[in-house]
Amino acid sequence: MSDDAASKPFPWADQWPEITDARVRAAFARVPRTAFIAPELERYAGQDAPLPIGEGQTISQPFVVALMVQMLALQPGARVLEVGTGSGYETAILCEMTRVADEPAGAAVYSIERYPSLAERSAQALAAQGYAPHLRVGDGAAGWPEAAPFDAIIVSAAAAHVPRPLCEQLADGGRMVLPVGEHEGDQDLWIVSKSHGRLHFERNGGVRFVPLVSPVLDDPAQWAEEF
Ligand code: SAH
Repeated sequence: MSDDAASKPFPWADQWPEITDARVRAAFARVPRTAFIAPELERYAGQDAPLPIGEGQTISQPFVVALMVQMLALQPGARVLEVGTGSGYETAILCEMTRVADEPAGAAVYSIERYPSLAERSAQALAAQGYAPHLRVGDGAAGWPEAAPFDAIIVSAAAAHVPRPLCEQLADGGRMVLPVGEHEGDQDLWIVSKSHGRLHFERNGGVRFVPLVSPVLDDPAQWAEEF
C-alpha cells in the first residue's frame, strides 16, 4: 500500500490514538462510509457512532470496527469470515486489508447476513465500490464450512456463547474476534486464537452490539466448551 493512502486523512484520524496499525488507518481512509448508509443519513456518516440500516440493525461504530480489525492482525491474502454483513462497510474494510495486487479486492473475504434485504443492499454497495467478496444469506453462527479454514473470523453481533462451528472453522494460527454477552447486558470483546489445535481465549474491553440470532446458540452442544 502506498504512503499516500496511509497518510490520507479520514474523519476519525485524530480521535483514534489506539489504532496504531497504519494499514488499518489506510483502509479507513479508502472506504467511504456514506456509500453504505441510506442517503437521508449521509450527513451523519462522519460521526463515530452507530446508525440505523433497517430491520432494527445498525452499521457499527467505526472505532469499534477499527479496533476489531486491528485485533485480527490481517495480512494481504488472508482468508476471512465475517458474521453479520449488515451495511457492508466492515466488509469493505476487510476487502482493503486483505487486498492482493492483481486480484479482485475481497477474493478471500466471506460474509454472511441473516436478513435478505440487508444482504442485497450491501451486495450492491460493495459492488459499486469495486469490492468482490463472497456473500451469503444465512446463519453465520454455523460458519461457512466449504470455505473453511479461515485465518480470521470477525463476528459483528453479540451472543452469550461462542459458537463452536466458528471455533472449528478457525485455521491453526488463526484469530477470531467477537463480542460475547447478553443482549442489552454487559458484553466484552474476546479474541479467540488457535495454535497447535488448541483454543486460547483473551478478554478485551466492554462493547454493545445487536444480538447474534441463531438456532445454533440454543444447543449447548454447539457452544465452545473451553470457553
Ligand atoms: N458490520 C456490520 C454490522 C451490522 S449489525 C456493519 O457495520 O454494518 C450486525 C448484523 O448481524 C446485522 O445485520 C444482523 O442482521 C446480523 N446477524 C445477526 N445474527 C446473525 C446470524 N446468526 N447470522 C448472520 N448475520 C446475523
